[in-house]
Amino acid sequence: MPDYLVKATAANGQIRAFAASTKAIVETAHTVHHTSPVVTQALGRLLTAGSLMGSMIKNRDELLTIKINGEGPIRGLLVTADSQGNIKGYSYVSDLKDTPDNPMTVSDAIDDGSLTIIKDMGLKEPYVGYSPLVSGEIAEDLTYYYAKSEQIPTSVSLGVLLNEDGSVKQAGGFIIQLMPGTDDETIEALEKALANTSSMTKLLDAGKTPETILKDIFVDLDLKINTTEVIRFFCNCSRDRVTKALIAIGEAELSEMIAEGETVELNCDFCSEKYAFSTEDLAEILAAIQKRGKEKR
Ligand SMILES: [Zn+2]
Repeated sequence: MPDYLVKATAANGQIRAFAASTKAIVETAHTVHHTSPVVTQALGRLLTAGSLMGSMIKNRDELLTIKINGEGPIRGLLVTADSQGNIKGYSYVSDLKDTPDNPMTVSDAIDDGSLTIIKDMGLKEPYVGYSPLVSGEIAEDLTYYYAKSEQIPTSVSLGVLLNEDGSVKQAGGFIIQLMPGTDDETIEALEKALANTSSMTKLLDAGKTPETILKDIFVDLDLKINTTEVIRFFCNCSRDRVTKALIAIGEAELSEMIAEGETVELNCDFCSEKYAFSTEDLAEILAAIQKRGKEKR
């Protein structure tokens, strides 16, 4: 089954909720980036958060980026999502040499650091929100970010469960937010329900789905599931885009690369796709820049 996400409201619109299953997205990330177990978990959690937060985007052209910088060995993670369910991301270090016999927690891998949310709405200046990490476990860090940076009481749960061979067994998460003016009775009922909810990995492993997880939480809070959307790991890189990046580095550096006489291989950070440019390819790009330069003059 493809990954999907449900959007819901509860308690007469006082609460909004998003829940997603993201096993295929996380497994794709694991496969393309060759991540070791703890990195699969960290990146998988952030990709799941990206899926959920991407679905909150109101403007079709808006792009969301979530960046974590950490002092731990993983150094950082970056995920981007659009409003159409396309998610991609990578970790700065993919293999931390952790194994089932020598495990590492996500919080150890990330350590102290910061969380940055960039919302690029196509305007001159993107919106940038920032908060320090409180635990390095990602879900708690996002809860804190929402409280501090956007003043929205939020509950975030993210989980990735691995098979013994490091492949993804289960992955998913939810984000629940209180709208301004939610009455105390509703808040209390939600808090109680959340306190009785087990971890995301346990719920998914017990066969729960995004719908049934939300139904269980909102059993007394009049849940309304509004939409279901397919989400996927998708990178929009292409040879054309990489060529544009090569044009941008300029004549001097291109000439140098050509003089070295070797094929240049560029990897996409997001999906690890390799793009090879022979010296002939590079010479062609350089000639095109020079021709354009002459036309301008
Ligand atoms: Zn790519």
